[in-house]
Amino acid sequence: MAGRDDLRGEGDGDAQRRRCDGGRGVTSRAVTPRVVDRPASLGKGVSVYPSATAMVWPGEGSMHEAVAVPGVRLSPGDVLVEIELATVCDSDLHTLLGHRPAPTPLVLGHEQVGRVIALGRGGAKTTDGLRVSLGERIVWSAAVPCGRCARCRRGLPQKCLALQKYGHERMRRGWELSGGFATHAHILDGTPMVSVPDGVPASVLAPASCSTATVAAALEAADAITPLDGALVLIAGAGMLGLTAAAMATDAGAHVVVADASPERRSLATAFGAEAVTTAVGVPESGAELTAALARAGGRGAVPTIALELSGDTTAVRALTGFVDVGGVVVLIGSITAGADVPLDPELLSRHLLTVRGVHNYAPRHLEQAVRFLGRAWERYPFAELVGPVFPLAEVDAALAAALGDGRRRVGLRP
Ligand SMILES: [Zn+2]
Ligand SMILES: [Zn+2]
Repeated sequence: MAGRDDLRGEGDGDAQRRRCDGGRGVTSRAVTPRVVDRPASLGKGVSVYPSATAMVWPGEGSMHEAVAVPGVRLSPGDVLVEIELATVCDSDLHTLLGHRPAPTPLVLGHEQVGRVIALGRGGAKTTDGLRVSLGERIVWSAAVPCGRCARCRRGLPQKCLALQKYGHERMRRGWELSGGFATHAHILDGTPMVSVPDGVPASVLAPASCSTATVAAALEAADAITPLDGALVLIAGAGMLGLTAAAMATDAGAHVVVADASPERRSLATAFGAEAVTTAVGVPESGAELTAALARAGGRGAVPTIALELSGDTTAVRALTGFVDVGGVVVLIGSITAGADVPLDPELLSRHLLTVRGVHNYAPRHLEQAVRFLGRAWERYPFAELVGPVFPLAEVDAALAAALGDGRRRVGLRP
C-alpha cells in the first residue's frame, strides 16, 4: 500500500466553480480555470488506496465499526504510518470497561509499530534530530505534547496542559486515524518518534510506546534517589510491566526479586532476570518467604533500596514502604484506576528518609531508552513470547475479549 500526493485534493473544482460564477448560478460565460495553491495551513492531501481503515469504538456495550479513511491531510511535521502490529494494553481494557471516561466514538490502541508512508510538507524528525525517511520503521509516543505550556517547560511533556493521546481522543474530521487499532496512523506534528531496527520482531517493539517506556521512566525515577546499579530491587506484580521492569533493572546491574501470587507469572519472572521470586507482598504469611527470597538475590539480611509497585494492589503499596531500606525509594506505577486509600506511617517515612514517587506515562527520552533496551536485550529475555494470540484487525472485538479473558499476555492485532 502506498501513499500518493494528491495536491489538488477533493472539492477544489467545486470551490473554483463557486468563485467563478459568484454563487449566482450557472452562466454561459467562459472562464479560465485557475489553480490556486492551497494555503500551507490546510496541509498536504494524501490519498491511500486501498482505503485506510480505522476500527472505531462507538462506546460501552457496542461492537467496533470499520470506518474507511480514503485520504488524510498532513500538516507540516505530520507523518502517515502503515501499522505493522498493534498490541492491546490494559488501559484499552480499562476504557472498554468504563473504568475511566473516554470521549466516543474513538479509535483505541496506543502500542504499535509501523512504517512511514507519507510525510507532511518539510518532513519530520525523530527524537534524535534525524530526518524521518519514507519506509522508515518507527514507534511513537502515546501522547502529543504541545512543547510550549508551563508543564512542557517544566520537563513534564507527558502531563502537557494541552495533551492529546493516541487511542484516547474522540474521532474527529481531520484526525480520523488517531489510534493503533487501524491499518494506518496519522502521527501529529510534535509527537516524539523513534526509529526502530528492522531485525527486531514487531511483537517485541509494539509495547515499547507504553509499557517499556513507562518502565524506563520508573527506573529513572528510582535511580535519581538511589543508584540502580548494584541495588537490590523488589518488584510487586509480574504482569507485562513487572516482567519488563525485572529485565530492565537486571540489565542495569540490579539484583531483582519479583513478588506475584501466580506461580506461572513467578516462573516467567525468572526468565526475565529475577534472581528470586516470592508470593504477593502485603500478605502477612509471606514474610519468611520474602526474607528468604531477598537473601537469595542480595545475600543474608539483604534489604531492598528500591521497590516498584506494579500490581495496582493497594495493600502492596503500604507493605513496600515497610520493606525498603533507609534512604530507599518506592515507585508507584501500578495504581492507575481509583482504589482504596492507603495508610502511610509518616514517622517511618521521616526516620527512614524514604521517598515515595509516582510515575505515569513518560517523556520522549524514555521511549528512546525503551527502544535501545529492546534492541539489545530482546533475545536475552522472552519478550516475543509475551504477545499472542494475534488477531486480524477486523476481529478487534474478539481480540479484546481474549485480552479480557487472559491478562497474562499482550493480545496482538495485525492489519
Ligand atoms: Zn504542553
Ligand atoms: Zn498502555
